[in-house]
Parts: sequence; C-alpha cells; structure tokens
Amino acid sequence: MSAHPLDVSSIETRLFIGGKFVESEKQFATVNPATEEVICQVHEATDEHVNQAVQAAKDAFHRSSPWRKMNASDRRDLLLKLADLIERDHKYLVELESLDNGKPTGLSSGGYGAAVDIALAIKCFRYYAGWADKLMGKQVPIDGDGETPFLNFTYHEPVGVVGCIIPWNFATLMATWKLGPALACGCTMVIKTSEKTPLTGLYLGKLIKEAGFPDGVVNFVSGFGPTAGKALAEHPDVNKIAFTGSTATGKIIQRIAADHVKRVTLELGGKSPLIITKNANLDQAVMAAHVGLFLNQGQCCIASSRIYVHEDVHDDFVKKAVEYAEKLKTGGQFDDGVTHGPQVDDIQFERVMGYIKTGKDEGATVATGGERHGDKGYFVKPTIFIDVEDHHTIAQEEIFGPVMSVLKFKSLDEVIDRANNSIYGLGAGIISRDIGECMYMAKHLQAGTVYVNCYDKFDAASAFGGFKQSGLGRELGEYALHNFTEVKTVTMPIDLPPGSV
Ligand code: NAD
Repeated sequence: MSAHPLDVSSIETRLFIGGKFVESEKQFATVNPATEEVICQVHEATDEHVNQAVQAAKDAFHRSSPWRKMNASDRRDLLLKLADLIERDHKYLVELESLDNGKPTGLSSGGYGAAVDIALAIKCFRYYAGWADKLMGKQVPIDGDGETPFLNFTYHEPVGVVGCIIPWNFATLMATWKLGPALACGCTMVIKTSEKTPLTGLYLGKLIKEAGFPDGVVNFVSGFGPTAGKALAEHPDVNKIAFTGSTATGKIIQRIAADHVKRVTLELGGKSPLIITKNANLDQAVMAAHVGLFLNQGQCCIASSRIYVHEDVHDDFVKKAVEYAEKLKTGGQFDDGVTHGPQVDDIQFERVMGYIKTGKDEGATVATGGERHGDKGYFVKPTIFIDVEDHHTIAQEEIFGPVMSVLKFKSLDEVIDRANNSIYGLGAGIISRDIGECMYMAKHLQAGTVYVNCYDKFDAASAFGGFKQSGLGRELGEYALHNFTEVKTVTMPIDLPPGSV
C-alpha cells in the first residue's frame, strides 16, 4: 500500500472560532481507514467551545457588523475567491479528504463516473456566488383602503445563525452544500464536522480566513454528536439547523428544533431503487448500477441499493454486474488505479459485515464478494446478492456499504409499488430505452431525485433531497436559498400628500 503523501505536522487540528484557530484541552484521534493507523489528534469542542462559536456567529450577524453591512456583490466576490483558493489547493484537499475518509483520490478529485467531492465543491461555491447579488424580494399588488394605493413588498433576509451538522461520507461537499447558499444569503454559521472526518472542514476554515470573510462568519467545531452536535442543535441563538446524516439522528434533531421552533432542514438516509426494464441497454444498466451502488464504497445516501431487474434480462444483468464488480481494484486511497477503498471506520466495517451475514442467513445468495478484503484496513469486497426478496433486511435497511441487492420483477406497475414500499424516498433510477416507460415511472416513483438512464449525476444547480423519511427541504439549486432566508413583508400607503402622515 502506498504511503500517504501528506506532512502530518502541517495538518490543522485546532477549532476555528471567531476567525482564530484555538486549542482544546480534550483531543480525539482520527484514523486512516486503509491502515487503521492514527493520522493525528484533533482538538475536541466542548459545550463551552460551541457557545463561543455561536456567540462569534451571532456577533458577526449583528446589524452593525462588517458582514451585514457588506454589499451583496462583495459577498459574491468572497465566494468566488474561496472557490479560487479551493481550486489552488485542490490537490491538498483531495489528499486530505481521501486520507481521512479512505476513498480513492480518483473519487475525491471528482472522477469515477460522478463529479463529486472537491470538483463539485468548487462549482458549488461559484454557483452560489452567482446568486449572492440576485436575491430579491417581490413587489406584491394588494388591495388599498379604497382611496390610497398601498405598496407591499418583501425582503428576503438571511435567517441568522445557522448550525450545520455534517456527515463523514462527503465531508467537504456536505459542508459546501450548506456554506454556498447560506453565505450567498448573508447568514453566519457554526459547522460541526463528523468525528470520523474532521480534517477537511478545518482546512476550509483556513481558506475562508484567507479569502477575507469577516471573523465569526464561519466557525468550525470538531467533535461528537451527543456532545458538540447536541449543544449546537440546542443552542437558543442558533436560528436554523441544517443537518445531513442518518434518519435516526435526524429525528433527534427535529425534536430538538421543535423546542425553539428552529428552522430545520434534514438530508437523511435512503434505500433507493434502480429499475432495469427488459428494454434496457444492459451495459448502460450495469454502469448505472455500479456507479449508483459502489461509488464511495456504497457510502452514499442515494446509493442504488435495491436493483430491480426484469426477469427476462435478470440473468444477463447479473453476469455482467458480477464481471464488473470483480474488475474493481481494491486498495489504499493513494494506490494507482484503485477504484474501491475501505469503509470509513471499524464501526461501519462491522455494520456492513453484519448486514452481509444477515443477507446470507435470510436466504439471499452471494453472487460475488460477501467477505472482507485483506486483513488490514476496513475493506469489504464489492458484494452482489441475488435471490433477494422485498422482506429481506438487506432490501429494507440502509446498509451504507458496497452491498448490491438484486431483485426480480415482472411488470412495471408491480415494480413501482414495490419500489415505493419503503420508509425512504431519496432517489430512484430507471434504465430503459422506452421513453413511455421512463416517463410513466418518473411520474409515479416517490423520490426526491429520479435518474433516467444514468445515476449519481450531481450538479450545483440541481435540487437534492428526499421524500418521506429521507428528509425535509432541498439542498442545491435555487431551492436551497429558501432554507437560509426569512421573508419579511413591508406594507405602506403611498400617494399620500407629503406632510399628511
Ligand atoms: P449520523 O447521523 O451518525 O451522524 C451525522 C452527524 O450527526 C455527525 O456529525 C454526528 O456527529 C452528528 N450527530 C450524531 N448524533 C447526534 C446527536 N444526538 N445530536 C446532534 N448531532 C449528532 O450519520 P453518519 O453516519 O455521519 O452519516 C451517514 C448517514 O448520513 C447515512 O444515513 C446517509 O444516508 C446520510 N446522508 C444523507 C445525505 C443526504 O443528502 N440525504 C448525504 C450524506 C449522508
């Protein structure tokens, strides 16, 4: 396995609060998932650090602060500058993301059939820079009082201090999906990164400082969910929580938010179906299923983890899918040509291996994989289960690992109902050469995103989020701006003679 190329002593590990990097007496280890070795100790946020970070964000949001007085076009320029700095340090961020998470550098840099991670983060900041000076309220025609016309208009104001809680699977990108729109709207932020991948957030903090954002506009706190995450979500001065993570934690966050009627958006888990009809181009279907499921070692919220294949093409699909899975090159994140890395940590590794055991115990058949790769690092072989039935645990629960479940179907209406029979509704996919079939299924599938003849196509302009227990609200695109704004209505009579009021 190739040694990692980063100088560990140069990695920022302190908390980023009020524009300064500060130390904590408590620290925790972050681990390289490919080697199981500690990368470095990271400063851990206590409740007091969270309070300080929220206070810094609150001060930065005060009406007399430099940030609130800044022109929208200057906010735009800061976001563009930040994108330029990320582009300048693209290689370093790619390596840091890969080191902390385990994903191959080919993926962090935006490859493997889906433009994600650092490449998409740069585009995302540029996209929202474009919105910063185009956020406008409306002038609304309302009834006057019979004599005097009224002017009624809306301001779209920033919602205030935003508390962000971020997962580990796309550490840089999930922070960016919140930073871009929130900063474009003029909010201030405290971001709690995942305890499994704290490093790239702190580096973003450095770049945010270098770009020239005023102190306190963005703060990063590293730490654990039940401590720092809970303190942030509960803080009365946090006006809005933007959460990405599991559905179980999302429910906790929503309950906390209810106490203060905080605005809350939730990007949660999924069990997304990909439907391959008998009209499908099978090579295209195999590619979509592989990118859809194996991208990021299966650690994608929108992973196509239920593959429904028409019975007429099932066996051909499975043969090609197995061949493809066996061609994936498993290895360390910095090894040449590697397309499949380790799971993020021992907890996720054990969880995935547990689901593989359950799949076997409940009667599904392993067509390939189904076991650990090597004896060091958290590697799970790309796994395909066939003979999967809807009631099997592996067809119902989010595995968040490289485990594809293949199920057979006979008719479109049958498969639509089966696909929709889930607590989740994040994504869905259709592979078919029949436009009628595609349109019919796209209409009836209950999912926030429906991919047709593709999968995992992400774009900063394209809204992303879930139906049902996959979430609340949408990230990306123009829709995300609503998450970070309050609408204020102003009403006044006009056309009164000067001096009459
Ligand atoms: P998780 O819910 O365990 O953790 C997410 C974040 O919440 C972490 O920062 C964690 O520290 C924090 N947290 C945990 N308990 C908390 C608590 N009690 N109070 C406050 N914060 C708390 O999820 P994860 O394992 O980091 O990420 C995987 C999950 O995220 C998967 O379910 C995946 O589907 C989902 N996800 C969804 C999207 C999406 O856009 N829908 C994107 C990425 C990941």
